[in-house]
Amino acid sequence: MPCFGNDVNHIWDRIRSRIGIHIRGENFERFFGPLSPIEVTEDHLHLGIADAFLRDWISDHYGDVIRDCAALELGRPVQVTVKVIAAPAPAPLPPSAPPEATIAAIDAPVVTAGEVSGVQLTRSFPLNPAYTFDTFVVGGSNEMAFAACESVAKSPSRNYNPLYIYGGTGLGKTHLLHAIAHKIRANDPSLRITYVSAEEFTNQVVSSLRNGAPATQMHAFRDLYRAQSDVLLVDDVHVLGGKERTQEEFFHTFNALHQARKQVILTSDCSPAEISGLTERLRSRFNWGMIADISTPDLETRVAILERMASREGFELDQDIAFQIAQRIRTNVRELEGALTRTVAYANLRGRNLTRELVSEVLSRLASDTERGPTLESIVHAVAQHFDLNVDDLRGTRRQQQITQPRSIAMYLCRRITQASYPAIGSALGGKDHTTVIYACKKIAMALEHDAAMQTLMRTLERRITG
Ligand code: ADP
Ligand code: MG
Repeated sequence: MPCFGNDVNHIWDRIRSRIGIHIRGENFERFFGPLSPIEVTEDHLHLGIADAFLRDWISDHYGDVIRDCAALELGRPVQVTVKVIAAPAPAPLPPSAPPEATIAAIDAPVVTAGEVSGVQLTRSFPLNPAYTFDTFVVGGSNEMAFAACESVAKSPSRNYNPLYIYGGTGLGKTHLLHAIAHKIRANDPSLRITYVSAEEFTNQVVSSLRNGAPATQMHAFRDLYRAQSDVLLVDDVHVLGGKERTQEEFFHTFNALHQARKQVILTSDCSPAEISGLTERLRSRFNWGMIADISTPDLETRVAILERMASREGFELDQDIAFQIAQRIRTNVRELEGALTRTVAYANLRGRNLTRELVSEVLSRLASDTERGPTLESIVHAVAQHFDLNVDDLRGTRRQQQITQPRSIAMYLCRRITQASYPAIGSALGGKDHTTVIYACKKIAMALEHDAAMQTLMRTLERRITG
């Protein structure tokens, strides 16, 4: 006897609870949140989802676990089918969103690269020819992000908008962004692709707002992003955190493109929830489409990446050697590349073969280089950069809240990451007394106990500093 409506909802809730035991919380939310039950028959469970990509992904990756949990719950074997159902109505834009007329009203000149004084507005960004889908090694850590990128590249603006890819540094986000651009360009050269790093976007906003900048500059800037882009790729959007005016500009850019059904693809080193100092309205937009993360590749994927790099450089890498390197360099693909390059250069310079002994030698040198870790200077620099301040502001004596707080944070992080003495930290910050450093560290430690925003901020900064 087939059942629908409430009954099927109850059954599905119970099946879902069983599934939840097997699947990581984040993935569970992402894939099982949008899935809804349609019907349960004697031998079949029918489920629905609004997105073809997610349907395929769920069927391929979670088909077995759904079937097993359904069989356990129902006490009989069932087949599971997931089909695409009508999408829910798109989230309404808030009243603050600009009406389309705002865009139409911008009477902007046609912009080509560098035409507007002071801003480099470029569409023809140099694509790295090596960053394609073909050269990207896929493993468990990145397959979801890879599939989502491929799908967007194949049919932009069809599936989900925006696509938001996040993961630690050196894990292939920029590579994937370029791969998307290559693919879209090859499939349809008429589509206008705009690529910008969030940092560059910020610089352009600042420059357009500068006193004395001609009004046409802002018009040109807006026109390029809002009216002349069919696909917008923005790298490293986490740097927008805390930059209110740039966020506002980006918000309107995003809305204009989204309303016009233009594809937006974003990368970041953390999830939207973890970007500190991001306005709620942008955070919610980053969550609108598809979010896919990239984590650290497992050993086999790291070996495959090394082999792919070697063949790109035209030599064959002994698998044993590839394992040896991959076992030592675990967290960052860029470092993996660096280790291989250093090893090969070392062997060439000395006219030696790539043996296990040689690799050990090079890796232990590398380790001693990196074990030194961040220095007091690099920490102060990273904190200054994060808050959009100069290092001299932090090292100076000005006492405005927007400087004293970052200064205290820098002191706290210096202590926490390097365990340097208080006087040493004081002198790294322009000769502050050690009691000032102690006080600052205590103050931040206390704030961290109850202040969630401070905790997020600290996580972001630590990740940035320690890579
Ligand atoms: P991110 O933008 O995440 O910091 P990048 O895209 O710059 O990282 O990647 C760093 C380097 O590692 C690049 O040279 C890139 O080609 C390479 N890389 C990262 N992940 C992969 C992968 N899965 N397969 C092949 N190369 C990769
Ligand atoms: Mg990058």
